[in-house]
Amino acid sequence: MSKRDFYEVLGVNRDASEDDIKKAYRKLAMKHHPDRNPDNAKSEARFKEVKEAYEILSDGDKRAAYDRYGHAGVDPQMGAGAAGPGGGPGMGGFSDAFGDIFGDIFGGGGGGRGNRTGGMYRGADLRYNLEIGLEEAARGTETQIRIPALENCGTCKGSGAKPGTNPSTCSTCGGQGQVRMQQGFFSIQQTCPVCHGSGKTITSPCPDCHGAGRIRKHKTLSVKIPAGIDHGDRVRLAGEGEPGQAGGPAGDLFVVVQIRPHPVFQREGTDLHCEMPISFAVAALGGEIEIPTLEGQAKLKIPAETQTGQVFRLRSKGIKALRGGNQGDLMCHVVVETPVKLTEGQKELLRQLEQGTRDNDTHSPRTKSFMDKVRDFFQT
Ligand code: ZN
Ligand code: ZN
Repeated sequence: MSKRDFYEVLGVNRDASEDDIKKAYRKLAMKHHPDRNPDNAKSEARFKEVKEAYEILSDGDKRAAYDRYGHAGVDPQMGAGAAGPGGGPGMGGFSDAFGDIFGDIFGGGGGGRGNRTGGMYRGADLRYNLEIGLEEAARGTETQIRIPALENCGTCKGSGAKPGTNPSTCSTCGGQGQVRMQQGFFSIQQTCPVCHGSGKTITSPCPDCHGAGRIRKHKTLSVKIPAGIDHGDRVRLAGEGEPGQAGGPAGDLFVVVQIRPHPVFQREGTDLHCEMPISFAVAALGGEIEIPTLEGQAKLKIPAETQTGQVFRLRSKGIKALRGGNQGDLMCHVVVETPVKLTEGQKELLRQLEQGTRDNDTHSPRTKSFMDKVRDFFQT
């Protein structure tokens, strides 16, 4: 049996917002939930289908992969899927699948969005915006960042219990970390509100972290920014996110690079662009000018009869590609500058020039072509 389109499964349009998708999912999940339809194989299949569709469409990356490649883009069985690690549409138990959305609906909480593996929670990923200059992005740099961080408390080693004491088994959930509760017509499993899923309660809290097991600190990290990095690129520092709970692994820290606008250069991929004013005389007669590059000054030969808008390419004066590709080029866009604050003598020279060239349009190719177009326009 071929798989149904995920949008069709949820009954939403392809351009549905995150909110629409969530609403559609809630409605269908409630309707087909196995607790409401005991021993109904059809509902169960429908419920699984809805859940799978939601798992993909509610995740920006997976949704993009699905939009592009269809089921093949998100199915872990299909090999090189674009879905994130461990993110396959699993067919796990219903209570697992519902943890997330019920947290949303009932304001429950507990472990948050961490990935649960046998009672352990992976710590949350963190994001840090790092602003750097264009030169640093081009050359690569190493910089220190200071980030606020939750760390496992050293005094209690993260247990939250006063040293020398042990946490006791939570009496509310009997150590399971989950409780079943009646919600209208069906019962749901929810993270234990007393122990927040750990299955343990602390009778004598640690004096340093007051039983939380974690304390808020700052840490300084060294970040290596590779040469060629572009605006919006991310550098991942594995394991530098929030620490996990109950022995779970730490999340990752993503350093998102933002490049400050540069006064001279605009970047486009690995190429750089700059605007280069040249004088009227150099444009007409030709000459050599000095132009700035990221590695200092370079010389650029301007040929005679250069016009505004002409672009000169300086090979390999752009930015090195991030992963060992070619270096980009520097593109100089020429602007012929009109001289200002002229003396009477200089003005006189220009008047002579104008008189000498006015009646012969071979000196002004643009004007000639412009006038030709105007003539054609009025004749047709
Ligand atoms: Zn402590
Ligand atoms: Zn409990």
